[in-house]
Amino acid sequence: MGTAISMDRFDYQPDQGSVRAQEKAFLFNQFNLSQYQHSMTQALALLEKRIETVEKPFSGVLPQELVGQFQAINLDESLSPEDALKELESIYLEHAIYFHHPRYVAHLNCPIVYPALVAELILSTVNSSLDTWDQSAGGTFIEQKLIDWTAEKIGFSAQADGVFTSGGTQSNLMAMLLARDSYCEKHLNGYSIKHQGLPPEARKFRIFTSELSHFSIQKSAAMLGLGYDAVIPVPCDETFKLDVGQLQVLIEQTLLEGNLPIAVVATTGTTDFGSIDPVAELAPICQAHGMWLHADAAYGCGLLTSNKYRHLLSGIEQADSVTVDYHKSFFQPVSCGAFFVKDKINLSYVTHHAEYLNPLSATEEGTPNLVNKSIQTTRRFDALKLWLTLRYMGVETLGVMFDSVINLAQKTYAYLQTTDRIEALNRPSISTVIFRYVPDSEVPADLVDQANEYIRKAIFRSGEATIASTKFENTRYLKFTLLNPETSSEDIQFIVDRIVHYGDEFIAKHFNEFSMISEAS
Ligand SMILES: *Cc1c(COP(=O)(O)O)cnc(C)c1O
Repeated sequence: MGTAISMDRFDYQPDQGSVRAQEKAFLFNQFNLSQYQHSMTQALALLEKRIETVEKPFSGVLPQELVGQFQAINLDESLSPEDALKELESIYLEHAIYFHHPRYVAHLNCPIVYPALVAELILSTVNSSLDTWDQSAGGTFIEQKLIDWTAEKIGFSAQADGVFTSGGTQSNLMAMLLARDSYCEKHLNGYSIKHQGLPPEARKFRIFTSELSHFSIQKSAAMLGLGYDAVIPVPCDETFKLDVGQLQVLIEQTLLEGNLPIAVVATTGTTDFGSIDPVAELAPICQAHGMWLHADAAYGCGLLTSNKYRHLLSGIEQADSVTVDYHKSFFQPVSCGAFFVKDKINLSYVTHHAEYLNPLSATEEGTPNLVNKSIQTTRRFDALKLWLTLRYMGVETLGVMFDSVINLAQKTYAYLQTTDRIEALNRPSISTVIFRYVPDSEVPADLVDQANEYIRKAIFRSGEATIASTKFENTRYLKFTLLNPETSSEDIQFIVDRIVHYGDEFIAKHFNEFSMISEAS
């Protein structure tokens, strides 16, 4: 009592050789480097062992089979690192979905390249936060240089800018926010939603996008106070692209109703079909009506890396904003995406100057604070993954990889066309193929739908492959999303064989029941 505060709390000298005091034992710093390295090596060994032995993309486990293990875990008790990893192996690694497996052909999850994993290690270890220069320094320039590089690939001028995001959903939200706010400023006498909230006219705002666009457009409209009903679905043509003629009719109709068309969203690579809306035809229509044009290239952005197929995105540089998801088609780990605007002035709709973080004076002094362009504050240095990927591999290698999955999709389509009991719906635009199982015999349409849903579930349960399913014009289809250069024609043949097998199995079981019911009635 009454003694001076002990100074050793402030004395940063480790007692070398002795066991580190408990409260500091796990901190990442120069005193714990050997434990850090040991732990990382253990984890690496576990991953190596797992990846070497993965035979299927999925174990097939059901939620009710796995949940019991979680109920038994008491998080108030810690384990040794060895036991913690062993536990993780059984509750997670044994049952994870493995996107690197060549028979994972379900959703838009690409296999990833290891230079990006080297970057993951570095960015998590240093733990920069990219909101301000004073939390990232050189990291800010790395991100900005990648933004400028991608903007140039899009075909934007030096007036463009952008920022990394958590993915397509966040990028699309930013696009709709900028579309809404710039419309108000331009068409409602400089009205500022940022300061004044939504104007009464907001009830009349309408956004046009194809019926095949991503649901994040509707979600964004809801979050921005415009509501799902503000989004007008535009029919597609027979190649699954937004029908420009129909769009014009719908815009005229909207104007006649006294509503206000504020934006068109083109999807340059739809999630299901890979179809690419004609941005170049949409640009003059948007200009004529003072509407914002957004291009959602969450999936299609991979074409930016391709020498062979880059032309499919031509016109994208005429959009006011663009969504890019490196974690969809640049072989990057989740999360890694970005949002771009043709005119950087529009990013000011999300700028807020906080005295403690990014005061206006810092901007005036020329300090680059990326938070000025983002709807996030603390933000991961995801840019480093793309950086090391480009520095290790070069963009051409990425492009060749993406070309190979486009070619595989075309081969797959040709193969499906020659396969009995399989009906392909679309000639692939990028690297997805949509098709369905159709039995030989006369089977009612809803039973065929059920057979296709059964096929997807049965294959998932077996774990031998994973495929996706979707609905088009009220009919159930199956989908391959091909993003893995390691997937071979043999893998595709194997999966198609299983599809036909499970389809036949379902029909054998249920069609007889159905026939008996019909006969009885
Ligand atoms: C996947 C996807 C999105 C959403 O991106 P996330 O990264 O999952 O948030 C948006 N648009 C399209 C066309 C997509 O395919």
